[in-house]
Amino acid sequence: MSVAKDETAMAQGILFIVSAPSGAGKTSLVKALIERDQALALSVSCTTRAARSGERDGVHYHFLDQERFRREIAEGAFLEYAEVFGNLYGTRELDVRDCLDRGMDLVLEIDWQGARQVRERFSEAVSVFVLPPSVEELERRLRGRGTDADEVIARRMRQARDEMLHYGEYDYLVVNDRFETALDAITSIATAERLRLGHQRSRLRSLLDPLD
Ligand code: GDP
Ligand code: ADP
Ligand code: 5GP
Repeated sequence: MSVAKDETAMAQGILFIVSAPSGAGKTSLVKALIERDQALALSVSCTTRAARSGERDGVHYHFLDQERFRREIAEGAFLEYAEVFGNLYGTRELDVRDCLDRGMDLVLEIDWQGARQVRERFSEAVSVFVLPPSVEELERRLRGRGTDADEVIARRMRQARDEMLHYGEYDYLVVNDRFETALDAITSIATAERLRLGHQRSRLRSLLDPLD
């Protein structure tokens, strides 16, 4: 194997997992993070839920019907999948591997059940849990977003507590009180993880090899 090829093979991207109860602000934070950071991509999940107004197929989600989703499960296409709020959500494995193999870092915005499955397959994944400053503020944000019916909001609030019970399984905990502060915190996490020795070793081989 040539040195160049070897270098490419070594320089795998970092896999970030971001979870939060619905309405905590993870989508807004991750969107802002990705706009700031050209080396970071967002994984587009598959879901059986209906598109909200403004959501586009292939951009916010791949919207699949139940039959297609079940078929892809049977084919083993998903790195992880879970039922959340009565709908199926999942991440296609091929998309993740393609991105990491190209050396791009990737963010998965997935629930705690999906996070568990990903950690089993990618032990080096870095996970971040986003908490709202309070349960009252969480409900205010879900209502303020104006995308969900009252009954959907009520269900998401009931499940928020269940999601939050899992914060202890994550590497980092960020409270999204003031948006810019939380965004700086998440940006710092990405920066610090990239500076870890293991990643620097594979990315800076031409600088480091002569030193070894
Ligand atoms: P949001 O919570 O307001 O962002 O609402 P969404 O409908 O976008 O997401 C619903 C739930 O599905 C959240 O808990 C997400 O973390 C989760 N979710 C989204 N995409 C995926 C995925 O690819 N896999 C898994 N396991 N969960 C996902
Ligand atoms: P999630 O993806 O976790 O469900 P969103 O990113 O959709 O959450 O955020 C839910 C709502 O809260 C949105 O209307 C968003 O604009 C708002 N929001 C997000 N972060 C903050 C914050 N720090 N302060 C006030 N409102 C926020
Ligand atoms: P929403 O329906 O509001 O877009 O998303 C609700 C929840 O689904 C969010 O908490 C989000 O993290 C989760 N979710 C979105 N995509 C995925 C996915 O691909 N896998 C898993 N496990 N959860 C997901």
